[in-house]
Amino acid sequence: MAAVIIDGQEIANAILKGLAGEVANLKSRYGLVPGLVSVQVGEDLSSQSYARSEARAATEVGIKYSTKSLAEEASPEKLLKTIRDINANPQVHGIIVQLPLPYWLDRDKVLAAVTPQKDVDGLHPLNRGLLATKDGEPLFIPSTAQAVMFLLAKSGVQVDGARAVVVGRSNTVGLPVSHLLMRGNATVTICHSRTRDLGGVTRQADILVVAAGQPGLIRGDMVKPGAVVIDVGINQVPDRQSKIGYRLLGDVNFAEVKEVAGFLTPVPGGVGPVTVAMLLENTLLAAIRQGSAAGILPSDYQLRAN
Ligand code: NDP
Repeated sequence: MAAVIIDGQEIANAILKGLAGEVANLKSRYGLVPGLVSVQVGEDLSSQSYARSEARAATEVGIKYSTKSLAEEASPEKLLKTIRDINANPQVHGIIVQLPLPYWLDRDKVLAAVTPQKDVDGLHPLNRGLLATKDGEPLFIPSTAQAVMFLLAKSGVQVDGARAVVVGRSNTVGLPVSHLLMRGNATVTICHSRTRDLGGVTRQADILVVAAGQPGLIRGDMVKPGAVVIDVGINQVPDRQSKIGYRLLGDVNFAEVKEVAGFLTPVPGGVGPVTVAMLLENTLLAAIRQGSAAGILPSDYQLRAN
């Protein structure tokens, strides 16, 4: 039987609708407008495309989104000063540094410059470390990992006790997803480019999360029948027949895997839109925390859960 296709866009739309109501309430009752700044260095096309989706969705929910663009050749000092200035701006509650940065910039140093209270993508070393620590309480969790867990929960997938396999071990996706699955009591195996017999490992998964950046890496015969497959990959593959010159493909061979899996996320329209929604939810959470600390909101003001 063909897999149930998880509609990430529809799930994201419902989250955005809820956030819009919250933002409207904050504005009308307390005059608080949540603010998110995207820091972009250079002209990486895929990060520009992520930023456009973020800006569209932020505008839709009423979050003030602005972009601070620096030239590719900007010095590390200039970039760090830009981040410090945004940290100090009380109108800005969340900061996202668009990745990848030009290779000569020290990514960890840049991410560490974002104040942890405004680190809405959860990539500050403090937040990453707390996520990796048993019972640690990070201020924010990376939004893609949050999106994966949200999609599993919305689809009624039982994580507790499941055998989960994550393909990819990056700080931004693979590792945080693995930690969250483990916190949900799954038994987790992490695969990477040096894993031997990848298919032999992925075939054991009840839940398979793929974040490798390799179009079509996971074939139908690498998936256990009935498994839940979450495809995080977004790959621009040249396509002359497309008006934009490329098409987006996931890390999973959709046509093959949909005949084997029980649940499957599409690309585009799966994890991507929910990631953006989670980033905005984190921004709202940051605004509420900072608003409460500044006495603009009641100290017990809570974000309604989606
Ligand atoms: P990275 O390149 O940082 O990490 C890729 C990981 O996959 C690495 O751990 C690498 O192993 C592993 N890998 C690469 N090739 C293979 C292979 N053949 N077999 C097994 N493992 C492999 O990528 P990201 O984690 O940043 O992103 C992964 C994908 O997710 C990309 O397509 C990206 O565009 C997409 N993405 C999607 C988002 C969304 O919202 N949907 C958000 C962020 C990213 P090793 O460590 O050994 O090198």
